[in-house]
Amino acid sequence: MTHESAVSKAREIATRVLAPGAEQNDSEGRFSTEAVKSLGESGLLGLLLPTDVGGAGLGPRTFAAVTATLAEADASVAMVYVMHVMGAASISAARPNAASSMRPILQEIAAGQHLSTLAFSEAGSRSHFWAPVSRAHRNAHGVKISARKSWVTSAGHAQSYVVSALSPEGAGPTDSTLYLVAAETRGLSVAGPWDGLGLRANASAPVVLDDCEVPADFQLTDDGAGFPAMLNVVLPLFNLGTAAVALGLCRAAVAGTASHLKNAKFEHLGQSLGESLPTLRAQLATMQIETDGLSALIDDVIDHLETPRDTTMLRVLEVKAAAGEVAISVTSTAMRVCGGAAFSKHLNIERLFRDAHAGAVMAPTGDVLREFIGKSLLGIPLF
Ligand SMILES: Cc1cc2nc3c(=O)[nH]c(=O)nc-3n(C[C@H](O)[C@H](O)[C@H](O)COP(=O)(O)OP(=O)(O)OC[C@H]3O[C@@H](n4cnc5c(N)ncnc54)[C@H](O)[C@@H]3O)c2cc1C
Repeated sequence: MTHESAVSKAREIATRVLAPGAEQNDSEGRFSTEAVKSLGESGLLGLLLPTDVGGAGLGPRTFAAVTATLAEADASVAMVYVMHVMGAASISAARPNAASSMRPILQEIAAGQHLSTLAFSEAGSRSHFWAPVSRAHRNAHGVKISARKSWVTSAGHAQSYVVSALSPEGAGPTDSTLYLVAAETRGLSVAGPWDGLGLRANASAPVVLDDCEVPADFQLTDDGAGFPAMLNVVLPLFNLGTAAVALGLCRAAVAGTASHLKNAKFEHLGQSLGESLPTLRAQLATMQIETDGLSALIDDVIDHLETPRDTTMLRVLEVKAAAGEVAISVTSTAMRVCGGAAFSKHLNIERLFRDAHAGAVMAPTGDVLREFIGKSLLGIPLF
């Protein structure tokens, strides 16, 4: 698979599978199993995995382009995809002791038969995912974990969950370890419904682990190495992925608004809305400028990930903070420009507006990112 063929597969799935079902899945809060099936069959679930396990061996540039393409049609599915890629990257980065047990799972992912996700956030530490309050307890076979995970995208649909917990002997609040917990593990259950304002079709429900046994070869990181894995393996890709979801939403909002301005008429004036009102054209132009600005930021962070340098982590923090704001701004303008037609849900703009509000509250939240950026500019330790 090449960059171009991956993006073209994503476009084909977005048109054939995502777009026709997005509205109904949103209104019913229905998880699109058919979207995951198509992503699996196309090879996109193994996009970043190495070729020796059957993956496509592609990088962040393609991940961002595929994600934005999916998000233009259905941001719920795009976020399922982002969380899956995070799970797959964490499994792929497993420590040597776990590598041989992870290999068949990576092969299943690359073959499109395994969806994964992250279960980091906990009811106890809320958006501070770097500080789980649950603790793994060592036994003869590995560890036992009990935890209340507050939101887990693809809950009840994923085949595996990358779970964080404090290490058995960890002394500090960030002395965590990552484990892979199979969906069928006794004690793991979806603990409630998902009925969000936006991203309603991505099953981001709470998950409870009640004395779940995790064998030693499913411990993904060394004891206490969960936190560096969150920062080095997950954070750069997650921030890029959520920014790409935001970009897809903005592009869809620009296209939907332009279409409305061309097609809705003032019959008494003999003109379309767009022909008639300069203020609407100006607001559409602002939406386009903000969308292209976000696209440029994403290109810049991709360049930093491909060629790491001193400013890479700063750019990684910035891109998600900026994307959350841009998505809210562009979709809010779209709501205003499209007026009562958007407000009464005659257009898809209202779904885009609701979906756009998720990025800023997903951890690291926009506020936390600003806090980190400000601290790092002043040389204050982040944790
Ligand atoms: C659609 C969706 C999908 C999700 N999927 C997953 C998933 O798959 N896996 C997963 O692990 N989690 C997931 N989450 C959880 C998410 O990452 C956050 O943990 C969660 O949204 C935090 O909500 P909260 O109410 O607990 O935030 P709180 O921590 O209570 O934050 C409340 C407010 O305080 C602000 N705040 C908090 N700390 C600081 C600080 N230090 N400085 C400044 N401001 C601060 C926040 O920005 C926010 O505005 C998902 C959430 C959503 C909405």
